[in-house]
Formats: sequence, C-alpha cells, structure tokens
Amino acid sequence: MNEWMKNVRQVEPYVPGEQPQSLNVTKLNTNENPYPPAPGVAEALRNMAADPLRRYPDPDSRILIHALADFYHVDPAQIFVGVGSDDVLAMAFMTFFNSEKPVLFPDISYAFYEVWADMLKIPYEKQALDENFRLVKEDYYKENGGIVFPNPNAPTSILEPLSFVEDLAAHNPGSVVICDEAYIDFGGESALPLVEKYDNLLVVQTFSKSRSMAGMRIGFCIGNPALIAAMNAVKNSYNSYTMNQAALISGVEAVKDETYFRETLAKIMNTREEAVERLGALGFHGPKPMANFLFVKHDTVPGAEIFQALREAEIFVRYFNKPRINNYLRITVGTPEQMEKLYSFLEEYLAKRA
Ligand code: PMP
Repeated sequence: MNEWMKNVRQVEPYVPGEQPQSLNVTKLNTNENPYPPAPGVAEALRNMAADPLRRYPDPDSRILIHALADFYHVDPAQIFVGVGSDDVLAMAFMTFFNSEKPVLFPDISYAFYEVWADMLKIPYEKQALDENFRLVKEDYYKENGGIVFPNPNAPTSILEPLSFVEDLAAHNPGSVVICDEAYIDFGGESALPLVEKYDNLLVVQTFSKSRSMAGMRIGFCIGNPALIAAMNAVKNSYNSYTMNQAALISGVEAVKDETYFRETLAKIMNTREEAVERLGALGFHGPKPMANFLFVKHDTVPGAEIFQALREAEIFVRYFNKPRINNYLRITVGTPEQMEKLYSFLEEYLAKRA
C-alpha cells in the first residue's frame, strides 16, 4: 500500500439514477420534469453574450436571489443559492451540523443525507418510518445535533402536513431543522411561511423538478437571515463562485414565468392522478403520491422482476434493493405519451406472465 493511502478520505459515494446516453429510453428513473423549462430560459441562453463569460460571475448571485425574493415575498437576506439543492444541502450540513449529538433523519429517505454525514464525519441516527411509511414526530423530540427530512419524502412520495414541520421546528429550538422541499410544488403546502416564526427552520428547494432545470443545477434555501449569513460565510470559505453566469440568467427567467410554472405543474399532477388509476387497474398500489413520482408495488409480481423487465424494454424506473422497500418501484411521472408506453408494456407483460 502506498504510504499516502492512509491519509485518503474514505467515502461511500451516493449513486445517482442512471443517465443513459440513448434517446430511445423512456426515462422515468430520476424524477426529472418531462417538459422543457420556461421559454424564456432557452431565449436567455441563446442571447447570452460571450463577454460576461470572460469575467467571474457575481459571487453573491444577486439577480437570481432578487428574482426569488420577489417570487416568494421574502427579503434577499433570507435566501441562499447553490449548485442544485444537493450543493445547498451539503453546505447546510457543513454549516449547521457541528454538534457531538447525532443528526436525525428518516431511515427510508433521500440516501444522500447519510453520504454527506459520513463524508463530513457528522454523527447521525436514522429514525424508522412507521408501518405506513410515515415519519413519527416523537422520534425527533430527543436530543440531537440537527434534523433533516424531505417533504414530500423520497422515495415514498408521502407528504406530511405543515403542522408536522411546525411541530419539529417548535420542539427543537436548539437545532437547525432542514425541510427538504425538492418536490413540494407538486401539490404540497410549503413550510416557507414558517421561517418567519422559527429562526431554526431552513427550507430547501430546487429548480430541478418543478422548474425543469435539473441540467442547469440550481437550488436554494430560505430561512432566517442569521442562518443564511452563516451559510454564506462557509460557502465563501470554500468556493466563492458556485453559480455560473448561465445559471444566474436562465434561473431568473424560470422564476419570472409563473404562468408556465403553474401550467406545467398542473399537467404533471393530472398525469399523476391518471397514473394512480391506470397502474391501480394493473394491480399496482402505493401511498398517495404527492411528488412527481409514484411509489408502487404489484399485488403479486416482485418489484425486482418488473424492474428488470422494464429495463429490457428500455423503460427505466428506479428500484431500491433495501429492507422494507425492495418490492417497490419509484416511477417518475412523464408525459402522457411516455406513461402510455409504460402502461401498455406492463399490461402485456403481466398478461403473459399470468
Ligand atoms: N432532495 C431530494 C429529496 C431529492 O430527491 C433530490 C434529487 N435527487 C435532491 C434533493 C437534489 O436535487 P438537485 O440537486 O437536483 O436540486
């Protein structure tokens, strides 16, 4: 073994869903939005002059932060932006989770929380979801060094009510409580208004899902100005220029077009409700989906088998070989056409298999 090996940071990286190069694949595996970003986004990128690229971007991301402040009716000092919500979350872990006490998060949840905690050597304790995959609020009353959970949860798509988020913030005044709202726009009620009341609550959102911009990498969080100032201090000790010029100008256009945003969300929610019916008729059931994906298992056929059969038919969904969920499939809501492909394949496959 090389001597330097002993000083290498040992990490178990997060494994994102597959990004196949083939365009023939019906891609329902990474919760991307099947519709393009608002028309202004492509236009802004087409019109982007080369000269600004010569210079560094604004390290304070002011145009994007101001657009978000207008949209969410908060002060710019309450907003932090990052390279996708993954960057925002990682920065929040680094900034707020520095206690000897464990950080708490659900056992069935976004797998990256555990990866960041391990990478940053943050102690943590996973809290088991109940038999219906619901978070148990009392589990988060114990002493802790911070709390993080997605709402709606991933991969279950289950939404906890606003009263749940408030209860956790109220019970933990000594910790930062991070509510990861990556999927909140698909019919959930955001905890954003609660940041005025709870100075320990940080609400994280992303442009990757509801704003169709996973490829541009924009995320943000909103909280008390003291939380945001602390995050900026850490960010500026790490990388001043996280947001590139293209992300800044195109992000502004996405936020400005509220009509397009609402129309796209409505289309996805309609397709989702239809998917519950159509998949239900084929024998798939799961919790009421409140994100842009469904979490379902078949009444008789094992999830792993269906996953494999779909994959061979170039229909990609997500499967997690983990305790309690290894019979479930996570299916991103696509366009009606993509969903028809899924239904007709499953119909044929299940009929043949029976
Ligand atoms: N939180 C949750 C719960 C997610 O599922 C995802 C998507 N993988 C993210 C955060 C990160 O998304 P992004 O970095 O694209 O904003």
